[in-house]
Amino acid sequence: MLSAIVLLSAAPGRGPAFESVRAPAPGVTELLPALVIPAASAVAIATLGLVALLFFGRDRSRRDLLLYALLAAGLTTYLAAGLPLWSNDPGRLRAALALLLPALAYLLLLRFLELPHTRVRLALLALPAAGLVLVIAVPSAGRVSGWLEAASLIVFGGAALLDLARLHRPDGALLFAATAALLLAALFDAAASRDVLLPGLSPPPLVGPAFLLFTALLLVAVADQGRMILERATTDSLTGLPNRATFLDRARRELARAERSGSSLALAMLDIDRFKRFNDRYGHQAGDRVLAQAGRAVAGAVRGIDIAGRYGGEELVLVLVDVEADAAVAAVERVRAAIAEVRLPNVQEAVTASAGVALHHGAFDSADVAGLIRRADQALYQSKEEGRDRTTLESRGPDHPTSPAEVRYR
Ligand code: GH3
Ligand code: MG
Ligand code: MG
Repeated sequence: MLSAIVLLSAAPGRGPAFESVRAPAPGVTELLPALVIPAASAVAIATLGLVALLFFGRDRSRRDLLLYALLAAGLTTYLAAGLPLWSNDPGRLRAALALLLPALAYLLLLRFLELPHTRVRLALLALPAAGLVLVIAVPSAGRVSGWLEAASLIVFGGAALLDLARLHRPDGALLFAATAALLLAALFDAAASRDVLLPGLSPPPLVGPAFLLFTALLLVAVADQGRMILERATTDSLTGLPNRATFLDRARRELARAERSGSSLALAMLDIDRFKRFNDRYGHQAGDRVLAQAGRAVAGAVRGIDIAGRYGGEELVLVLVDVEADAAVAAVERVRAAIAEVRLPNVQEAVTASAGVALHHGAFDSADVAGLIRRADQALYQSKEEGRDRTTLESRGPDHPTSPAEVRYR
């Protein structure tokens, strides 16, 4: 696909989409740069394209790959029809493809962003079909292929921008800006190569409108894949909470920050009570559903600045920032209450959780995350011993005092 894209970018003449009227057969000296440049670019970019394809192919569905292949085939045909090798005018074919390809690219973008096929989007996607009838019915349609391409770019580029603008994701703004810049460049390119802009200057086509649209699509797809991979690597798929490694990483950073600023912090470990019994009674899948809901409940019960994670099996961990003992215990109780609210349809039994809390006092306390986890785990063990469904704050003692005053005067 990428090789095709670059062919388009380097296609000879003034804007590949607008070359419906062809000059008489060119000589070898004219043909050579027109073929060598695209060929050289094609080799370089085809390598990149293959890497991208392998990258996508790993976890995209067959339908996505089929769309990708259709797009690549369509682009190749579009470009081949624009090369000065044919004597008869392929303008109508290019006009048809100019209409269809942006729609296909938009369809792929919807799939990559996992956006639903609403009625408005389906109506948009049906538009090129109407244009196609026009292209087939009107023999001179090839002459307006440039305008068709521009219209198609504006409609589908605009729709893509609207979708990206409403995307609530960290990389949403970046994707929007990149796509907007590419679309503007494409339109500039289209206009300049038709002498609408910079009349008389006849700049060589920068990249070709379709090239830019597909580059934008590729950008979105790659960014999306990157985000998906990152998310999979850092998130626990069952609960949606940060996984153990991510949690530990964030906890370490939070602990370092607390040490710098001298603020306090609490680490809590929670373990679902008698969960083996729950699994035995209702099945592992029911247990999984409970864990998934508990994960969401926990995420909703802590403040945005706190960190919740899945430590292992049915063990959850929390880092509560800027809290003293009372506030920490209150927060853990809120989380436990949220877990106790979890219900499955047809299962009356609620699950409870036990918790253990360890406190860290910024500059006065030298414990690392592993030490805090060990202390919270000991407190959790005590909760289990004393009957479960409760929270234990680590015992106070000279080794791990729990109030700043005690630490200061140690
Ligand atoms: P308690 O903690 O109250 O002492 O009893 P428990 O039965 O919960 O004991 P423990 O914490 O040692 O056992 C963990 C059980 O949790 C084992 C396993 O059946 C269940 N479990 C762990 N991870 C998962 C999971 O991902 N899905 C399901 N369904 N069950 C899990
Ligand atoms: Mg356990
Ligand atoms: Mg348990």
